[in-house]
Formats: sequence, structure tokens, C-alpha cells
Amino acid sequence: MLFNYTYITHDIEKLQEYLDFLFTDVWLFAEGDFDAEKLKKNQELYDIYLELDKVDFDPENAKKNEKGKSAYFFNSSIEKIYKAFADINDDTFKLELIDYYSNNNNIEEICKNPKLPVLTYDDLKFKEANLHKELKAFYGNLYGSGSPFNLADFGSLKTKLLPTHYKEFFSSNKRGKCPFCGIRDLKGIHHTKKEAYDHYIPKGNYPFNSINLKNLAPMCNDCNSSYKGTKSIIGTTTNRNKAFYPYANSHPAITDFKITIDLKSNNIQNIEPNDLVLKIECAEYDEEIEAWKRVFGIDERYKALICNESEGNVWFNMIVDGYNNAIAQGYSGSKKDFLNMKLFDTKHTPLSSYGFIKSVFLEKCDELGLF
Ligand SMILES: [Zn+2]
Repeated sequence: MLFNYTYITHDIEKLQEYLDFLFTDVWLFAEGDFDAEKLKKNQELYDIYLELDKVDFDPENAKKNEKGKSAYFFNSSIEKIYKAFADINDDTFKLELIDYYSNNNNIEEICKNPKLPVLTYDDLKFKEANLHKELKAFYGNLYGSGSPFNLADFGSLKTKLLPTHYKEFFSSNKRGKCPFCGIRDLKGIHHTKKEAYDHYIPKGNYPFNSINLKNLAPMCNDCNSSYKGTKSIIGTTTNRNKAFYPYANSHPAITDFKITIDLKSNNIQNIEPNDLVLKIECAEYDEEIEAWKRVFGIDERYKALICNESEGNVWFNMIVDGYNNAIAQGYSGSKKDFLNMKLFDTKHTPLSSYGFIKSVFLEKCDELGLF
């Protein structure tokens, strides 16, 4: 990614805190049958559980009773997972789960350290099939339209918590561009519509982090849906890699990314992706850059931008035609001076009008004597 986000604290975090409590204080100590008293050390969650227990639910009419369905889903999941934990006979694995829970939620360290052991659903299925089934059913439904957290009892995730978080998030993150591509604008505080939050570490592959705000990052639709999808930014279990962490305290500046373009054709008007060789380098971030390029289709998208008749072509023509126009207006500098003026603009505001890529392309055209 070209730049990082600033993390903001928000009430949504309390949902993750409920889950932390369930894991560390309830499920890990599961023995015998579950009863509501086991939740008593977390008064808020205890009260919610009792309230949800009062909601009528008839599985035959689940579609007509969304509230009942969500209430039943949340409470029965707590109970089913409790039972799955109580049935684990392997104490060593139970201890390992403590580390896995902490690691799977330490998104920063997962990105930084490919050796950090993380738990995948596939690993879990192999070790404890029933626990796998129950955890996947629960965590797979905590985010999205069917989430029990959308109930007013939890603060209405979809209609209140997420919209207020979004607004506060973009009040602090004001660049207006998607940091994962640098190409698309992001809808912010002046829009009534929102971008989707991406689960940076895919929630379908890794348990425990589906509502962890540090694993949720707003992203443009191209990055999120068209390119990233369920691709893993950290590689596979057996071949992990480092990845940029969206909320890192330190991230290279855009100007630290050394982007180079080689042109195999002088015919800019009809340039094709195969005529371009694009390289992006940044000292000590090779692995992160490879993962970023792979998951977000960066090579393809930057080349397509240059080959777009309304972009790359125009950037080129605006030097040639712009210079001729400037001369007609009385400009007395050379073409090189004119180009340097334009390059100043693109480099001065790298995120505006694709400046970070436009400047590199124009410099290459100049180097090849195409102006
Ligand atoms: Zn994007």
C-alpha cells in the first residue's frame, strides 16, 4: 500500500472485548454444561445474554423473525462452542489455543513476522473438527447483514456503530484516496454512501478476528471486490510472507517508493501493457511490496492506467500540446523547462491525478527523447 491509515478507537471495540471475554474467561474453562452464570464476570454481556434469552424464536419461522434468529444464533453459539471446548481432551492443544487466539488477533505482528504461529480453519478442522464447525459458524456470521451484533442490544453494528466509526475514521484519515491502490477515490465524510471494510486477514481462513477493528480497513471497491477478494496477503500456511499493516506506526512515504517504467515501444498513442515493464521498489520492504502487488493486481492496474486513452495518452499529449499552447501565449521557456514545470506539479501532489505514476511515465518519455 502507498500509505497507511491512522487507527481510531471506537465503541465497536467493545464487541471484540465481549469475544475476548468469552474466549479467555468462559470457553477455555469449559467443563460440564453451560449456564448463564458463567458470564457473570462481564455484567454487560451477562445482561445481554439474559435479554436475548427472552426473545421468542421459532426455527420454523426464522425468516419472519430476524431478531429472534439473531438472538438465538448468538446465545446458542456461545453454548455450542462451550460444549466443543469442554469436549477437548488435549490440554496441550487448549494451551496452544491461548497463543493462537492472541496471535490471530495481533494483526500487526502477523503482517510483520511470517514466523508468528497463526491458526487457520484448516488446521483446526484437522485437530478438533467439532470446534472448527462451531467457531466457523459463529465467527463467519459476526460481520455482515446477518450479524447478531446488528441487534440494538449490542449497539446496532450495521446501522449505528459502523456508520459512526466510518465518519470518525474519515475525519482522521483525510487523503481521499484508497491507500491500497492510490488510484481510486474513497467515499468519505461528504458522501452518503460508504466503502466496504475489508477483512485484511481473511475471516474465512483465520478464526477469532472477524470483528477486530485492526483487521478491518475501508478499501475501494476495485481493491476489495475485484482484486483482493479472499486472497491472502500473508501467503499460505507453509509459505508465509510479510505484508504492509494498514495501521502501522511507520510506513514508507510515497516518495520512498521507487517506481520505474521501461518502455519497449515509442508509439505512445497505441501503447499496450506488454510494452511496459513496471518496477516498484522500497528499501527493506521487498516482501511487503510483492504481497501488495500480487493481491491488489497493482502491475496490471498501473499499466492499464498508462494505456488508458484518457490518461497516459493525455499526460503525454498535454506536454506536447500544452507546450505549443504556452508558446502561443507568449511563454519563452524551452520544452524542457515546460516539462520540468509539469513534473513539479505531479511530484508535488503525488496522490492527485495519479501524480506518483504520471511523473515516472513522463520522465521516461523524456529520457527516450519522445517529446
Ligand atoms: Zn483501491
